[in-house]
Amino acid sequence: MLRRRRVIVGSVSAALAGVAIVFASILWLLWQESITSETAYAGGLATSVGQKVDRIFFDTRKMLTDLNQLPVAHCSAEHLKAMQDAAISRPYIRGIGYWQAIKRICGVGLLPSEGLKPEHADRIYPSGVIAWWPSPQTSVGGVQLFLLRYGDHDVALDPRLLLDLGPRPNREAELWVDHLRMASAPWGMRLPPPDTLPIGVSLDSVHSRIISHFADNELLPVDVVAAEPVGDFLGRHSKMLGLAAGLGLLLAIAWIYLILRYSRHRLSLAMELRQALAAGSLEVKYQPVIELASGRCVGSEALARWNRENGEPVSPLVFIPIAEEAGLIQDLTLTVLKIAMDDVRRVRTEFPTVSVNVNLSPEDLRDERTGHALIQSLAASDLSAGAVKLEITERALINSDVSRALIRELRQRGHRVAIDDFGTGYSSLSYLQTFELDVLKIDKSFVDAIGTEAATSQVIVHVIEMAKALNLEIVAEGVETIEQVDWLVTHGVTFGQGFLFGKPLSIGDYVEFLRTQNRHAFAESRRES
Ligand code: C2E
Ligand code: CA
Ligand code: CA
Repeated sequence: MLRRRRVIVGSVSAALAGVAIVFASILWLLWQESITSETAYAGGLATSVGQKVDRIFFDTRKMLTDLNQLPVAHCSAEHLKAMQDAAISRPYIRGIGYWQAIKRICGVGLLPSEGLKPEHADRIYPSGVIAWWPSPQTSVGGVQLFLLRYGDHDVALDPRLLLDLGPRPNREAELWVDHLRMASAPWGMRLPPPDTLPIGVSLDSVHSRIISHFADNELLPVDVVAAEPVGDFLGRHSKMLGLAAGLGLLLAIAWIYLILRYSRHRLSLAMELRQALAAGSLEVKYQPVIELASGRCVGSEALARWNRENGEPVSPLVFIPIAEEAGLIQDLTLTVLKIAMDDVRRVRTEFPTVSVNVNLSPEDLRDERTGHALIQSLAASDLSAGAVKLEITERALINSDVSRALIRELRQRGHRVAIDDFGTGYSSLSYLQTFELDVLKIDKSFVDAIGTEAATSQVIVHVIEMAKALNLEIVAEGVETIEQVDWLVTHGVTFGQGFLFGKPLSIGDYVEFLRTQNRHAFAESRRES
């Protein structure tokens, strides 16, 4: 029951953690995406406002150029009408004047007829444009105007009308020209100066607003800083937000569903396995171990087999981890051991030197229960200890003190101990040396690499050298081709196991296999001698 609760609590935590991660990732991605798209496609509010300001300046200079080139008499009715038309069609223009040197000859708009004459110009640009910043000297009717002169004409601009924020309230913007603050909308408010801000869009979390910064230096050096509430920004991306939230929800539901299904499946498999163990319906198959040089079968590996009640076979790769998780592995090991011992005893009446390998799980070596039960049942049987070899994976050696003592005890009683799946863990030669072992089983992945370009094809050579240095007998696992056999024999590997020789067989088929194989091998070896 306790384990059941642990599995359920574990699954629910995993599900919730997964949901939180999925949601957080989606929101984060979305936020990044919104900022990126805002920057890439619009650059935020500041860009749209700044581009309008740029257009106004270009248009103003073009208008002044056209007036300078107008082929009519200065201050004639046509000249005045052209100035009038130009001013009326541009709401931000307060007045246009025609000058000769520092004297205003004529002009249009609501300006004093002698024009505005600040003491000296603020800027003279290489483009030929001369600029006067809004100041008390340019003030008309309480509004300080921005003056631009190009050639013989000048224009007075109302800076407040340069910033077009559209119909939305809560938006703010400031215009800076050549690092001088020119205008703000709404009038009088303050935003951070442009040289403190990155170009593009950034979040001002203190004021819950999105700040954008646009900079351009084509005609005049222009900076626009704009701010809008986060809500507006999210509003523009709401469709994507909604979509992502929906997708996140769907993923979360699918994730929880899968986790719950998976844990229910595992729980029910664990329950079924417990019943199968109690009912003694677990089976064992034997995969032959072959002496490569002679082809003789010297023994086998006992492999557990389980068919569910509905007849469906379950792979040991699935049910062994479930047994480990559900605390059933020690019972399973003892069941396999008992069946294998009974079977090998009978086999040995006909083939007295044949042995059987039984797999121990890391859990079996964690405490002394399996070890001692194993020693007792072997002592009670009339089998010689040499008939039963024990396979231990590298994983099991990590819990070293108990396993080291147990391995020593088993070997003292005459069992041989093999390290299984060698090369898939992280054991080094020096670490392996601290254990007393007899056999090294090279994992199938290294055998597969023989004759290929894969990096693992080099590793097997070192593994073989290492085994020889430690005086270990070598068994190659998963041998499937004759080329692999040739290579292994050339490199001094004595034993092999794999589909080339035989798949895991029922005990009846295994005995048949021994009969044909060993009679054949025996005949061969006699012919050779
Ligand atoms: P293992 O101990 O490495 O067993 C060898 C596995 O490789 C077996 O799979 C065997 O059928 C398969 N095999 C052998 N030769 C070849 C080959 O030439 N080609 C291919 N493709 N496969 C080959 P199986 O029986 O499915 O067992 C899988 C794993 O389950 C075993 O790997 C072992 O770790 C575990 N296992 C099986 N029975 C027991 C058991 O009784 N106790 C414990 N603790 N683990 C077991
Ligand atoms: Ca094994
Ligand atoms: Ca193995």
